[in-house]
Amino acid sequence: MTEFELIRRFFASQPIRRSDVTVGIGDDAAVLRPPAGQELAVTTDILVEGAHFLPGADPAALGHKALAVNLSDLAAMGAEPAWFLLNLTLPEADEAWLKGFCEGLYALARQYDMQLVGGNTARGPRAIAIEAQGFVPAGRALLRSGARPGDGVYVTGRLGDAGLALLHRLGKHGLSESELAAVVARLDRPAPRVREGVALRGVATSAIDVSDGLIADLGHILEASGVGARIELEKIPVSSVYRAQLGEVGWDVALANGEDYELCFTVPEKNRAALEALAPRWDCGISRIGEIVAEPGLRVRDAAGRPYTPRAHGHNHFAE
Ligand code: ADP
Ligand code: MG
Repeated sequence: MTEFELIRRFFASQPIRRSDVTVGIGDDAAVLRPPAGQELAVTTDILVEGAHFLPGADPAALGHKALAVNLSDLAAMGAEPAWFLLNLTLPEADEAWLKGFCEGLYALARQYDMQLVGGNTARGPRAIAIEAQGFVPAGRALLRSGARPGDGVYVTGRLGDAGLALLHRLGKHGLSESELAAVVARLDRPAPRVREGVALRGVATSAIDVSDGLIADLGHILEASGVGARIELEKIPVSSVYRAQLGEVGWDVALANGEDYELCFTVPEKNRAALEALAPRWDCGISRIGEIVAEPGLRVRDAAGRPYTPRAHGHNHFAE
């Protein structure tokens, strides 16, 4: 299979067709028509074999995850997904791998009506980089910088299950078969909180997606907003599987392992009723875990009110 056959068979034939794509795959660049009055939110994320996934990883899960992590960034900006590009380096043109990869990729793309509009393909170590673009009404993107003292700090869904599954996969913490089955999808097929992010426009003062762990990502909001926060350990939402492991793994997996792809956001008191009207419609649920304060820094307290110091601070590819 040549490079051009590969592109034709797996990418040019992709199933989603949007009316705002004037020129899609097949020319030197795509030509796209953003709606009047909307700004483009643009993001990219790369998954590299060895760093983000293990050799032999399920290609369909990789296709899903490569797009999901980008959708999660769009969600954190309150953007509606529209288009994406795919840059792939592969050690060989493995048809079975490509077929599986495309299944996972297009299933998620279809769910959000996202069209693949271009990319690049080359031989090399296995790596997948997607660039995703979405729309936000002008001036209404959710930023990291808008948190103010008195705002509540919230997260969607539950934290820590992806971290548990990863520890299991790396042989660092054993889970039973049924426990693993309950959490592994949180690692391999994260569900980006796109509808939630869009609905939070005008309600939240700031937002970020939790990709590197709550401590690190909430830390980015605090720094960008020039504020601090107090959060309560007991209010960190975890699954029943996680709760059963608390004695062994403690809170740090939920606080610092990352890969949760939930949203962390802040809401002022005046918007609390609006949030509480929205949230019951969300399957993932929300939890209020603390509040923003003027004094910089993040203070975590345990159930007894004692300060809690996490051991780890989040994933960092270039940490010493
Ligand atoms: P060029 O050499 O002009 O960059 P290519 O031959 O690399 O063009 O690509 C031809 C067409 O196929 C372009 O529209 C490009 O965006 C698309 N394409 C190449 N690789 C991919 C891919 N992995 N996914 C989606 N589209 C791709
Ligand atoms: Mg060209």
